[in-house]
Amino acid sequence: MFDESKCKRCGECFVRCHYVEYDQDRAVKEMEALIAGEPTEIVSLCATCIACNTYCPQDAHPFDLILQRQEETKAVQSPKGLALAQEWRDSPSEIVRGEPGRPVISLCVVDPLIPRMFEGRVYQGMTFLKGGDYFCHVGYCHMGLQSPIEPGVRQLVENLARVGTEEIVFFHDECFAAVKSVAPAYGINVPFRPVHIITYLRDYVRDHREEVRRLDLRAAYQQPCSSRYSMEKDPILDELFELIGVERVARKYDRQEALCCDAPLVGFGQRERAIESSARNIEDAKAHGAELMVFLCPMCTLRLRRPAREAGLRPIHLSNLVRLALGEQLPPETT
Ligand code: SF4
Ligand code: SF4
Repeated sequence: MFDESKCKRCGECFVRCHYVEYDQDRAVKEMEALIAGEPTEIVSLCATCIACNTYCPQDAHPFDLILQRQEETKAVQSPKGLALAQEWRDSPSEIVRGEPGRPVISLCVVDPLIPRMFEGRVYQGMTFLKGGDYFCHVGYCHMGLQSPIEPGVRQLVENLARVGTEEIVFFHDECFAAVKSVAPAYGINVPFRPVHIITYLRDYVRDHREEVRRLDLRAAYQQPCSSRYSMEKDPILDELFELIGVERVARKYDRQEALCCDAPLVGFGQRERAIESSARNIEDAKAHGAELMVFLCPMCTLRLRRPAREAGLRPIHLSNLVRLALGEQLPPETT
């Protein structure tokens, strides 16, 4: 939530934004108008990448104010995104019981998006939670809506708590953000320990070092926007890449400076801006010598895999990259 008492009206948040070209004066004016509830350009141009929440030196959460104004003004709307979200919320839920002692993993609704993703040794014997009961609702922030997030996260935490386990691995970065950061911000108690898929994969690889074949590849990482809620896991990702012999190229649009996959802009009907932004993202990856484009979010994968491939980069999900390093043959559907 935006904290007006922390905001110094310095404009840093929008000066650093990769989706507008504001000097400090303009950035300060936009912020003052946003706070006053006056019309602003930024509510329409914001790509909902969440980056300014991490740029703000005062931790005032400016993106949360933009989102509030987007909902109030209907400056951006995503009818297809909303229809898809409704479909996901209504999708049937299932608990696929695994072996006692093996971890529980929540797949949200991403299971059908990349077929045969959860095969292989890494996932063997796990208990899978999937379907609408485990939909995290944080993605509404990419559709110009704030109001469904709090009740949705509350329901998600209740549904997960009913599973009755002490620890849950989250495959979807947004789900981890929901339980690790968003729920506490709304005062929602989370009665289990959330583990990010990156941490789970790092631990698995560390415990099975003798099975790893270092890949000796250079990769550009497409950081999901929701990772802004939990940047503390970034060193764990670096360690995972190192363990499997993949160099994460030090490109411009990574870590704090990462670009969105631009699916939200497409949803807002701003296709030209999305194409331009994706092109500079992929050019940046190429210019820094990447051979692969590695994804964590399935939506980023679906949005960028074709332009990445057309630019000569092999698109691959992080989980499948780990499976490759463990010597597994990937089914053609996963690539
Ligand atoms: S939200 Fe943060 S970065 Fe933006 S104007 Fe306020 S204090 Fe500055
Ligand atoms: S969320 Fe991203 S696109 Fe929107 S204003 Fe902040 S930095 Fe810019």
